[in-house]
Amino acid sequence: EKRQRLDKILAHMGFGTRKEIKKLVKAGLVTVNGESIHDPGMHVYPNKDVIEVDGESVEYREYIYLMMNKPQGVLSATEDRFTEVVIDLLEPEHQHFEPFPVGRLDKDTEGLLLLTNDGKLAHQLLSPKKHVPKLYYAVIDGEVTEADQLAFRQGIILDDGYMTMPSELNVLHSGLRSEVELTIYEGKFHQVKRMFAAIGKKVVYLKRLAMGSLRLDPSLEPGEYRELTKEEIEILK
Ligand code: URA
Repeated sequence: EKRQRLDKILAHMGFGTRKEIKKLVKAGLVTVNGESIHDPGMHVYPNKDVIEVDGESVEYREYIYLMMNKPQGVLSATEDRFTEVVIDLLEPEHQHFEPFPVGRLDKDTEGLLLLTNDGKLAHQLLSPKKHVPKLYYAVIDGEVTEADQLAFRQGIILDDGYMTMPSELNVLHSGLRSEVELTIYEGKFHQVKRMFAAIGKKVVYLKRLAMGSLRLDPSLEPGEYRELTKEEIEILK
């Protein structure tokens, strides 16, 4: 592993700004391998060296992986001048890792949003070549028929002329308001809504349930989030 500046490591782990960390160091509260140190810019091995702040050892890690049940009304972005964004919903102890949302959900869409600072994993999940499946639950105004299922299986021509890949439409309930599950293997802008618009139907509620092997934890209320387990991280990679 590579050595890094001590103040950078501590900032990453949430011990404050560089300036605040300098104060901790000057106050003699930071030790490396048991020795009190005085230079916040000292280079150390983040995992190999034993770093302690005020007697507590610092468990270094580079990446964070969070699953959120994104609520409606919040943007899946890192910042916005006018509207609340998903990052605003995180505790400071998670914010300082600087996670970002992997892909986008519309402002009025709920459900599974992965947040991480692991750019490589994000890239893998978003790569158009990888065809990572995304599972949605949707409520549709009007009846969803077998003909619709067939059309979705064959591919739908969107308003811009793009022909979608085959997708799987599963009807849970058909009526004046229908409930469906849809699996798509790509992620065009507003794709689910535009697929239904192409067959003359309107999505009135949309929630993402899964992305690749990662399923939304059903115990998460909208706006809640948790860290992924080791197993969840492994199977995503
Ligand atoms: N498709 C949509 O139309 N909206 C989303 O938020 C996600 C997929």
